[in-house]
Parts: sequence; structure tokens; C-alpha cells
Amino acid sequence: MKQSTRLKNIDRTNHHDISARGKSVRSFTPAAASTSSVISTDVIIVGAGASGLMCAANLKTGGLILESSSRVGTKLLMSGHGHCNITHAGSIKNFPSCYGDAGKTIRKILYKYSNTDLVSFLDSRGIKTVTQADGRVFPESMKAQDVRDAFLSASSQNGFKVITNRKVVEIGFSDEGQINKESSESDIRQYIVTAEAPDGQRFCYEAKHLVIATGGKSYPRSGSDGFMFDVVNEGLGLEHTELKPSLAPLEIKGYPYGELSGISFDKAEVSIYPNAGRRLVLLNGSLLLAHDNFTGPAILNSSKYAEPGCWLQINYVGMSRDEVLARLISATGTEFKSSHGRCSGARIAQSGELGAIIAKEFALPRRFANEVAKRSACSAKKAAVLLTEDRFEIESRGDFSKAIVTAGGLRLDQFDCKSMQLKSAQNAYCIGEMLDVDGITGGYNLQFAWSSARAAAASIEANINNSSPICAED
Ligand SMILES: Cc1cc2nc3c(=O)[nH]c(=O)nc-3n(C[C@H](O)[C@H](O)[C@H](O)COP(=O)(O)OP(=O)(O)OC[C@H]3O[C@@H](n4cnc5c(N)ncnc54)[C@H](O)[C@@H]3O)c2cc1C
Repeated sequence: MKQSTRLKNIDRTNHHDISARGKSVRSFTPAAASTSSVISTDVIIVGAGASGLMCAANLKTGGLILESSSRVGTKLLMSGHGHCNITHAGSIKNFPSCYGDAGKTIRKILYKYSNTDLVSFLDSRGIKTVTQADGRVFPESMKAQDVRDAFLSASSQNGFKVITNRKVVEIGFSDEGQINKESSESDIRQYIVTAEAPDGQRFCYEAKHLVIATGGKSYPRSGSDGFMFDVVNEGLGLEHTELKPSLAPLEIKGYPYGELSGISFDKAEVSIYPNAGRRLVLLNGSLLLAHDNFTGPAILNSSKYAEPGCWLQINYVGMSRDEVLARLISATGTEFKSSHGRCSGARIAQSGELGAIIAKEFALPRRFANEVAKRSACSAKKAAVLLTEDRFEIESRGDFSKAIVTAGGLRLDQFDCKSMQLKSAQNAYCIGEMLDVDGITGGYNLQFAWSSARAAAASIEANINNSSPICAED
């Protein structure tokens, strides 16, 4: 028989409060309960990651956060190499294009809960931010932990309690009914959430409002392992698109620049081509030569299009091949007339000489230019190809264990994208990376976690206060 228990009945023996600076995690371990006893609350948030904490930090109703791992905000703590690139500077109107096809659908919540709102929120919690030359925004302390702790302490002040080591394995309804697609206010049921402790013990929680914030599949050791896609499919009938690693490293065949590690290009053009057929994507951005591969934002951003067997093409100079060739020939003629009294045209005897010309003509690092000259066997024509259409076969793309985000996720057409509420189940919301939204590198993924979390929090608060639900157009 169901026994409804208020939160105050939770065993607090393992609870430790966060200090003023929030250096430890506020967590509770509830008294062992069989699935026959149910803990009731107004709001259950599943997942104490970036979006779950951001939602709780903006929701004054209080409630419970159920977290499968033993730590809160693990991925947030890892973000930006521990520095946390929280968002990007500039007009929020520039953001939608950074999320590919999803950008248009989510633009209203981005505009309503923007990058400047996020910065103001952090400021109100004592976290100053700094903007780097490339537009990325970080906490001034450069410590992701400060950001995590700010959200955690705001959540705690709002009356949220985090219960760690509770992996949600099932979602249902108190009346055990099916999802009612035409559910009305009078037909609102409680959500029943079953969570499992590491020792296999099960706990039941009940709430009128449910927020799923369990992330995608990337970096599964951080806790977001994709398991919840099956749970929400079974419990709420939600479907997801194909899940792919994104912002992942690429392995290419025949990487030629191992000796030039550390050289970077600010405005490279990176294209991905299928084995046969038209270009899949063209992206601009910075590119870095590492000791074993190309890396940097342009490579990471292109990775979701890059299947093994596809081709990576790089233009280091942002000009067409013909333009580069014309400049090389012209520079070659001038240079050689003056130094050797002859014009060598399209072929140059010494690769060092061609290297010097390439470096000077295109303002490229001399070591890189020399290597291009060497690879071109002193042919200006070949050098023009290598500078503008340098092609490599993609051997592999980093899997989910190396991908910073998941491309694909819960289909957006299943949600009211002004509040992130399910169309099919009232008062249930999904936020953050588990949705079919992934941004380019630069703070856009945490910005979406923030915007979607704020939208859900505002809608829940409006519902609870019995006013009309807030939508992004208001
Ligand atoms: C190494 C790395 C660096 C990154 N750096 C940046 C950056 O600098 N800037 C940026 O914008 N983005 C960055 N990202 C991406 C960004 O961190 C994520 O997009 C963001 O954390 C997603 O937030 P989320 O709340 O949706 O998911 P998560 O942060 O993954 O949180 C999901 C939470 O749900 C929990 N959970 C999962 N399943 C269950 C379950 N069944 N029951 C209970 N709990 C569950 C997980 O343990 C986890 O705590 C980075 C990602 C990685 C991996």
C-alpha cells in the first residue's frame, strides 16, 4: 500500500550542509524504503548536473533532486578544463545559428533567458565573470567549482535537497494510467519516480512536477550515460533521434605535421566531405596542430559530421586555390629575379626558398610554410592545393567517452519549446543536453542548459502559483 511521506521524514543522518562558500555538497540519504513507501514533494528534478542545478536555483518551490552518482555537477566541474566556459559574449541574436537546425526552434528561450541573464545571475551570487578575446565567458576565478557551488547554494536556498546515489530507473503515474494526450488541469496526476541505490535498494518519490535533466551520453563516467533515454521512452513515451558523439577529436590518416605541434591558425576553413558526393559542412574557426592530429574548435565543431571514411579538407589561408597559385607565381617571379636573376615560374628548386615565400606571402609560421614546401616537392601548384584544399581521410572519430557533447537527443517536436514542457504529459519537462540540441564549442552548450532550465522553472512556478503558464513570447 502506498504510504505518502513528506520530505521532513527523510533520514538526515548522512546529510552534510554546504558551507557559506559551498565547498561541500548538500546531500541527503533517505531512510531505506521499499517501493511501498513514497516520499512526496512538489517538484522532482532528475539529475544534479548543470541544467538540473540551474533549474533548482531558479525555482522557489523547493523539492528534490535525484542524482545517480555520488557527486553533484560532475560535468560542470570538468567544463572548460575545470575553468567553466559558462557562455559566450555578444548579442544573443547570434546564438541560434550555433545550434544548427535546432537553433530556430529554441531561439525564443535563448532570447528570453540569455547570456546576459546568466552573467547577471552569477553576479547576483557573487561570481564575477570575464570575457576572453575570442568571446568565451568564464568565472573570474577560472574555477568551475565556484559556478557549481553558486548554483548548488541557490538551489539549497530555494528549498531543494539533493539525494545522491539515486539512479532513476522508472517513471510512472500515481493512478498507473497511460499518458493522456488531452490531459486538462483537473486531470493532473502525480509522477511516481523509482530510483535505485548502488546496493540495489529501491526508493519511490512522488511529485506533481517532474523535470528530467539527465544529460546525453557523452563522458558517461560523469554520470550521464544515456540510460534515461530508455526510461523516458518507457515511462513517458518520448523518442529520441540518433545519438552521435559531437565536439569529439578526429583521427586522420597520414597526419603530416607531428613536428609542428603548437602552431595554430585563427581563421581556418574546415570542410567534411563524404566518400563520394557533396560537401557535408564548411566551418570557420581556429585550428591547432597537435603532435598526433589536427585539433581546435574548427575540428571539434565539424566532428559530428565526420564518419570514418569521410574526408577532412582544410584551407589554412581563406583564399581560393587559384588566388594562392597566382600569388605564389607572382611572388616567385619577383623573389627569384632579384635573388638569382631568373624567374622560376611554377617550380622552385629549393624547398626552403618556396617555404620563405609562402611564409611571407600568407603570413604563416615559417616552420609550417617549410613543411608545405617540402610536401609539395617544390611545386607552387601543389603548394597552392596544400594550402587551400589539404585533404585527409578520416580514420575515426572519438566515441562518447571523448565527445564533449551528444548530437541528437529527445525530439523537439514532443515539447512546447517555450517552456520545455512535454506536449503529451502535463507538468513534465526535459531540459539540457538530453534534448536534440547541441551547440558548437565556446559556451553554447551550458547556455542552452541555462536557457532551457530557466524556461522550465518559470513555467513550473507559474503553474504552482496558479497563474497562466509563462511562455517565451510573454
Ligand atoms: C569535458 C567537458 C568539458 C565541457 N566544457 C564545456 C564548456 O566549457 N562550456 C560549455 O558550454 N559546455 C561544456 N561542456 C558541455 C556541458 O558541460 C554539457 O552540455 C552540460 O553539462 C549538460 O548539462 P546537463 O545538465 O544537460 O547534463 P549533465 O551535466 O551531464 O548532468 C546530468 C546529470 O544527470 C545525472 N543522471 C544521469 N542519469 C541519471 C539517472 N538515471 N538518475 C539520476 N540521475 C541521473 C548525471 O549523473 C548527471 O549528474 C563540456 C562537456 C565535457 C564532457
